[in-house]
Amino acid sequence: MLQSWDEMRGHREQRELFRRSIQRDRLSHAYALCGPEGIGKRQFARLFAKSQFCRERSPEQLDACGICRACKGFEADTWPDFIEIGCPEGKSQIPLDLLLGSSEKRGHEGLLYELSMSPQASSRRIAIIDDAHYLNAEGANALLKTLEEPPASALMILIVNSPDALLPTIRSRCQVVRFFPLSDHDIRDILLSEKMLEDSAEAMVVADMAGGSLTVARQLLNAELRALKDRIGEQLNFLEKMQPLVLAKQVADELEKISSGLDEQRRNANWLLRFVADFIQTRMRLLVEGDFSDPLTQRLGVRCGIDLLAPMLDRVCAATHQIDGNSPVRLVLEALFDDLARQMRLGPVSAR
Ligand SMILES: [Zn+2]
Repeated sequence: MLQSWDEMRGHREQRELFRRSIQRDRLSHAYALCGPEGIGKRQFARLFAKSQFCRERSPEQLDACGICRACKGFEADTWPDFIEIGCPEGKSQIPLDLLLGSSEKRGHEGLLYELSMSPQASSRRIAIIDDAHYLNAEGANALLKTLEEPPASALMILIVNSPDALLPTIRSRCQVVRFFPLSDHDIRDILLSEKMLEDSAEAMVVADMAGGSLTVARQLLNAELRALKDRIGEQLNFLEKMQPLVLAKQVADELEKISSGLDEQRRNANWLLRFVADFIQTRMRLLVEGDFSDPLTQRLGVRCGIDLLAPMLDRVCAATHQIDGNSPVRLVLEALFDDLARQMRLGPVSAR
């Protein structure tokens, strides 16, 4: 979790919006932070909540001091006036217990009950409902009642991937704040600063593929996917000996295993193809520069190598388009690896 705004990338306008509301003493009772997953909405909400509890903050600013009792309590997750719930991993709904209390104590515990109590240690109570699009009908109705008559000291922050995911009656009672994907450069910097990757060029490739979402970037860095990428790399180093159908089967099987659903399978497949394209491009560049230190470029030699690799690169790009166009990943990979192996066997067009 981020501890200060300095660590947060992007979302400056949204920060300014909250700062101005504080300056004018115009904070709403409820906000809906809307935007794609994995861009830092929850971190944003937590930093904002922390700043509201901080006792040393200058009244018109959003920066928490980080050292007062409230800041320390918040960081340790023990601050009594802060409540946060979300959809537990593996569940498809936010359990009602979290919102309304267990069935024996319904209405006498849970987020909405706590929010109705007077604050214990600060001037307000703040609640974050992460994944608010996973509220079921009963939960949404209970929330609506609280939104209709919000306790004076309560401030609620709902986090959703899209404003359309909220019931119109809930949405209309919240101030909707839209969040946008992070820039590729922001994602690259986060990957490097959080030591998820060490190589800046590789981080940029991942950032480019992630479409502004740190969650997607993390998925792309998943250990199994990277192991698969390494395995393909080994095969590419010995292109002449590649067994295309065996490789295609291995890769497709593994992609099915590690991806949850077809969309993720396609995204992961394209990430692997992007890697194959980068591999070929790097060898072409080495050949142009006359660098034969790499085993494959050494064997291919400069003239034959570039003539051979250029059409292979085109072929990989075509496969990417096929996957984007919803062709089955397995068939695309089989055809691709088969073509690459055939091109390798036949040699460059100019030499045939
Ligand atoms: Zn503080």
